[in-house]
Amino acid sequence: MTATITFLGGADTVTGSKYLVEHNHQRLLVDCGLFQGYKQLRLRNWSPLPVAPDQVDAVVLTHAHLDHSGYIPLLVKEGFQGRIHATPGTLDLCRILLPDSGHIQEEDAAFANRHGFSKHAPALPLYTRQDAVDSLPYFHAEPPGQWFEPIRGWKARYLRAGHILGAASLLLEVAGRRILFSGDLGRPDDVLMNPPEAPPQADTVLIESTYGNRQHPKDRLFSELGPLLQKLAKRGGVAVVPVFAVGRAQAVLHTIAQLKAAGELPRSLPIFLDSPMAIHTTALFEKHMGEHRLSLPEVHAMDRVATMLETPEQSKSLATRHGPMVILAASGMATGGRVLHHLAQYAGDHRNMVILTGFQAPGTRGARLAAGETPIRIHGQDVPVRAEVVQIESASAHADGNQLVSWLHKMPSAPAQVYVVHGERAASDMLRERIEHEIKWRAVVPEHGSVWPV
Ligand SMILES: [Zn+2]
Repeated sequence: MTATITFLGGADTVTGSKYLVEHNHQRLLVDCGLFQGYKQLRLRNWSPLPVAPDQVDAVVLTHAHLDHSGYIPLLVKEGFQGRIHATPGTLDLCRILLPDSGHIQEEDAAFANRHGFSKHAPALPLYTRQDAVDSLPYFHAEPPGQWFEPIRGWKARYLRAGHILGAASLLLEVAGRRILFSGDLGRPDDVLMNPPEAPPQADTVLIESTYGNRQHPKDRLFSELGPLLQKLAKRGGVAVVPVFAVGRAQAVLHTIAQLKAAGELPRSLPIFLDSPMAIHTTALFEKHMGEHRLSLPEVHAMDRVATMLETPEQSKSLATRHGPMVILAASGMATGGRVLHHLAQYAGDHRNMVILTGFQAPGTRGARLAAGETPIRIHGQDVPVRAEVVQIESASAHADGNQLVSWLHKMPSAPAQVYVVHGERAASDMLRERIEHEIKWRAVVPEHGSVWPV
């Protein structure tokens, strides 16, 4: 019997990654992410999976971003009993990210109930902080480069993928077939992370396509961020920078440290990192030396360049300060978290800036800001946007179209099939066309929920 793969998420969208591999009544879930963005996508988080969680034998994660890991607490709460395999870096990050995700969902539900703007009474969290903590004992660390057996008779091995700490591609061997999951691929020229490892030979490849239809500008983050923050400092404004707590927060901090060291920014320009999660992640860079490009002095400089705000009281006290200052806060697509309070506070003033640093999934507040929408709705209130909104593409943690094609091209010979996943429709289609025309491999963009042979 051949193995099959069911695309339960991360098909036709960049979020909700979940790929179910089945063979001989055994089931492995590769990634277990949350849907984010448009409401009709987020509603998918609430409908049951087509397979009961207790019928899934194991989970293998490619990395810790919530669109790849954020469904784990619910899977465990609803009966999953197996092991969750992850690299040591991913495990460390999930210990930070998953409880925080539960906390944010509890807060959002409580806020909606207090202000009565939820259509559901009472609004419930998808899962709680405690649910997330309860899922952590199921995790099992697997170092990159070593084979492990997620299910008896199935073999798996991680390869480093750049992107963020712990991120990996996954090579899976089942029923005599080799399947390569790219996971999210970093850029070869990333500010922080090492380039992705070259792909080994496989029969089937799933490749991400977040930026499948785009090329990153040549500009480095350094040369894009420098002039912006100089302008901000001169006019005494406040820059609100929504950041992914894991990855982009550190890239922006490292770049600001470099700009200050080079005399491109006044050393006195106050920088605040208002995200306990990002603070803890920054500390992990010291633990996982060798996974990234930074030297120990650079890690320390990144750590020292910002004032770290841990408590909600410290966060709120920022509202009494005057500019110029730069506030980094999660979440990166402004879908929740402390950044919302800062946007509500500062978006209305034309001296201020909102600097978007990563991919903004359609339907998120970040995408609306990038499109120049005003007002935007925050916690049930309309907030007019008069601040300058800038999107910095050089901060991306994903390979662009050319880099994706050249990564694939490093495979020793053609795979039998390529599935283009983890992209909006236009991005996935463009990458599929390039694969078919430039390297002449068979490629399809699978639909959400579809089942294919591997
Ligand atoms: Zn990611």
